[in-house]
Amino acid sequence: MKFQPKASHFINGAYVEDTNGAPIDVIYPATGEVIARLHSATPEIVDQALNSAKAAQAEWAAMSGTERGRVLRRAADIMRDRNRDLSVLETHDTGKPLQETLVADATSGADALEYFGGLAASLTGEHIPLGGGDFVYTIREALGVCVGIGAWNYPTQIACWKGAPALACGNTMVFKPSETTPLSALKVAEILIEAGAPKGIYNVIQGYGDVGASLVTDARVAKVSLTGSVPTGRKVYAAAADGMKHVTMELGGKSPMIVFNDADIENAVSGAILGNFYSSGQVCSNGTRVFVQKGIKEAFLTRLSERLATAKIGDPLDEEVNFGPMVSENQMNIALDYVEKGKAEGARLVYGGARIEGEGFYMQPTVFADVTDGMTIAREEIFGPVMSVLDFDTEQEVMARANDTEFGLAAGVFTNDLTRAHRIVAGFEAGTCYINTYNLAPVEAPFGGSKMSGVGRENSKLAINHFSEMKTVYVSMNDVEAPY
Ligand code: NDP
Repeated sequence: MKFQPKASHFINGAYVEDTNGAPIDVIYPATGEVIARLHSATPEIVDQALNSAKAAQAEWAAMSGTERGRVLRRAADIMRDRNRDLSVLETHDTGKPLQETLVADATSGADALEYFGGLAASLTGEHIPLGGGDFVYTIREALGVCVGIGAWNYPTQIACWKGAPALACGNTMVFKPSETTPLSALKVAEILIEAGAPKGIYNVIQGYGDVGASLVTDARVAKVSLTGSVPTGRKVYAAAADGMKHVTMELGGKSPMIVFNDADIENAVSGAILGNFYSSGQVCSNGTRVFVQKGIKEAFLTRLSERLATAKIGDPLDEEVNFGPMVSENQMNIALDYVEKGKAEGARLVYGGARIEGEGFYMQPTVFADVTDGMTIAREEIFGPVMSVLDFDTEQEVMARANDTEFGLAAGVFTNDLTRAHRIVAGFEAGTCYINTYNLAPVEAPFGGSKMSGVGRENSKLAINHFSEMKTVYVSMNDVEAPY
């Protein structure tokens, strides 16, 4: 098999196999071909991984931030050197076009390793002067063993977005990728070892939801960071609460993108394309409810259709191709079912809507117009290339409708009215907002959701607070006064 790793799991610095675990076939979404066969972690493997992370943690945390940062930065360099190989692997794992994976996956992972590697040496507590010469100082401490659980849309990126800040703070990690895309996290673990990481600080184990669930409830675990759907997030958050564990929840969305009459139509169409069809629509922060003001609605739809007709759909390994298959047959069928619901509930199909016949899990980029707020396709996360275009008249009306959702991951506005743009983003109930662009997620900026879309933030300096805690030390410079 083309991409068979040495073994399914990476524990304590080495590949480990246990064929007693349920088999996991890795399928190349462009052809349906099985490219690797792995095994889900047995309870023994889970135990081994957690023991490895636990044993390595104190020594890793005792290293200076500069030393820890150096390991992460070396790993970033190795990832960049191997970007093409890692991107080819990611394309096979996910089906995303190589044109995308070359610039958005290992590169984004490397950015996280470099950024948090750079921060590691400057992570400190503070000195707080008090009256009479007394003072408090705080010590920023690692949490301990952290569990990362990933979704299948950005496997390398997720493995690094969780691993890099965790390791920078002196934690160790057990990471479980989605069983749909298990290959690239193993490469991240390998690269960290090559970069000089002590054994056991970053372990990868495979498995279905049950393996994730067993990690979340284990007493050795101090923190759980999940990227996944809202239903899974609810379960994981509740399970983690039982052990009073720290959590970060990066969950789903149904984000609004508002396009006013005065917007630059080409830019708005570009934003809508990026926010609906990149990675065949399998992006959590996608702006799938596109509210277009009535004055430009038809012009917007015309340009959108014209530009979609130029999308190059096909073999994701061909670097000219910019629209690939969905990650799995199951995910494609979920999205196609939503298309049928859209039609049945009276939305107007203006582009695509069908499976592309032949091998692989391809469906057309799809646009519905005349979508109304109550329709299923306007309320539920589809996680596929299906855009809903809704009309609106006034700013006040669209603001209320944009926020009328349980989700709050992202939101965007296209307008040339400067003050309106800022007024709109101030009103958005969402964690990540965009003005005249969409779906950029640089490591320097916090990323995450509000409402049902999540808890906590990834990336930026804020991520440090989610992977460390403060110890307060009160120092008295005076005699101790007691009442008796
Ligand atoms: P799922 O919620 O189905 O799964 C996420 C991960 O959790 C998988 O590794 C899954 O394993 C695991 N899991 C499932 N059940 C449990 C459990 N009870 N305890 C612990 N772990 C469990 O999401 P998908 O993989 O289908 O990914 C798509 C979702 O992820 C979308 O909703 C999307 O919006 C969201 N997402 C959010 C992002 C963000 O940053 N906010 C970014 C990317 C995606 P298994 O796959 O084996 O079931």
